[in-house]
Amino acid sequence: MGSPRRVASWLRSARTWIVLGVLAPIGMVAVSGVMLIEMRGDAWERAEQTSRNLLQVVERDIARNVEIIDLSLQAVIDNLQAPGVAEATPELRQLILFDRAASAKDLGVMLVLDENGDSVIDAAGWPARRLNNADRAYFQAHKADPKLGLHISQPLVSRLGGNSIIVLSRRIDKPDGSFGGLVLASLSLSYFDRLFERLELGRLGAINLYRRDGTRITRYPSIASDIGANIAGTQNFELFAGARSGRAVAISVRDGIERFYTFTQVGDLPLILNVALATQEIEAEWRVRALVIGAVVLVLCGLTIGLSLLFGRELRRRAAVEAELARLSHTDALTGLANRRRFEDALAEAFDGLRAGSEPLSLLIVDADHFKRYNDRYGHAVGDTVLRALAGALSASVHRPDDLVARVGGEEFALLLPSTDADGALRIAEKIHAEVAALAIGSAGIGAEAVTVSIGLATAPHGRPADLFGRADAALYEAKATGRNRTCQAPSLGTAPASSETSDSANRPQHRHAQTV
Ligand code: GH3
Ligand code: MG
Ligand code: MG
Repeated sequence: MGSPRRVASWLRSARTWIVLGVLAPIGMVAVSGVMLIEMRGDAWERAEQTSRNLLQVVERDIARNVEIIDLSLQAVIDNLQAPGVAEATPELRQLILFDRAASAKDLGVMLVLDENGDSVIDAAGWPARRLNNADRAYFQAHKADPKLGLHISQPLVSRLGGNSIIVLSRRIDKPDGSFGGLVLASLSLSYFDRLFERLELGRLGAINLYRRDGTRITRYPSIASDIGANIAGTQNFELFAGARSGRAVAISVRDGIERFYTFTQVGDLPLILNVALATQEIEAEWRVRALVIGAVVLVLCGLTIGLSLLFGRELRRRAAVEAELARLSHTDALTGLANRRRFEDALAEAFDGLRAGSEPLSLLIVDADHFKRYNDRYGHAVGDTVLRALAGALSASVHRPDDLVARVGGEEFALLLPSTDADGALRIAEKIHAEVAALAIGSAGIGAEAVTVSIGLATAPHGRPADLFGRADAALYEAKATGRNRTCQAPSLGTAPASSETSDSANRPQHRHAQTV
């Protein structure tokens, strides 16, 4: 199976490493992105849970306390109408009416006001502390509406204690149904402060209690201007008033901070309670983690990309070096022509083509005449220069891309000419003689026509490579033997059977003087 080899070559490819170097960071970013989104979701889920729990605890406490106070108010009204109470002495009446109420938790004052707003009975004792509350909004409201039931006032400053309170009140009807005053109980706002201060809301978190008309009864933590402020008509209050309970992210009307609000109506009372956590604080811990994780992932991505680019570049450099080595391994160092190994490969390849195709193949072997003499006379360096000049002359004699010029020995060259018949090869041999004749190496005092070559030429008809090189070599030998500076052509194989190709008569070269000197 070629698959392990395919994997190996895949791993050696620079592109593989560059693609991996890009895909791996994309994967890392995607995975850490999903992780961070999930972590953010967890932070929000915790905040929701916390808000819900806080809201529930606080709502129950307020509802329970208001209910206890309301029961006391109702008890006073019931007792006032009980037979005999009206006739009792004021002291006794006070004891009867406020028997249970006085013990109610967080209760401030508790009074009965007559239809003129004057205090007539006081839970604190006999005689009642003197005061007239006819001007208070709750007094007017009860007077105007017999069916008001329990009324919860706006935050007020107590006329008796001087502290901030809300007043819870119920109307007292006379036997004929007309307005007979009211019974009230005050609840100090410090009750809410004590209730809220135990809660963990964060530095920017808050808890708010509103009346249904948009008046803020209290806030924790609060400044003076928070108490009694009315936010009716704002988008936020419409949200809180629009449903019995719910949650939403909104910008605070009070300070412009974005908060996550969880809100609910308090029992069946006309009160709205909300817990507000700053979104900034909900996400604070997550942000720090996200920053750290993001930075680590970015650094890792950068490293991965950098390393894979470096690795890819190194692989490319190696591939280039290997290609250069491969080129050098089949190049002759002195002339830059193909070397003998390359020539032999090309010859074998050409033979394959010859067997399969219908085109002839010609081979020229070119040998410098009396070359030893140049070396002896001018020195080896000039000999090399002549060889390079010869290489240039040979290259200049062929033009087809498939023609191959190689140096196959010291001063011996070969030209492999695919799709070239004997006549074509002969014309090239003539061109070589002409190019070589024009060679002159001025610096060494070698003039034109001083350098000559002998050429052995052989052509293989299609389908029959036979001993092409041997036949060309024999023709070269013939050219040397018959005076040099000429081309001899190996005898044509014609249609002779393959067995006779190697016979002496078939191999004897013909003299074809391409050029006479
Ligand atoms: P012939 O005409 O019979 O071919 O005579 P020749 O002197 O060319 O042949 P011979 O084979 O006797 O000598 C070849 C000479 O070529 C030997 C050597 O001095 C020279 N030669 C071979 N390779 C190189 C080379 O790389 N550089 C140089 N400068 N000379 C070389
Ligand atoms: Mg020679
Ligand atoms: Mg030779």
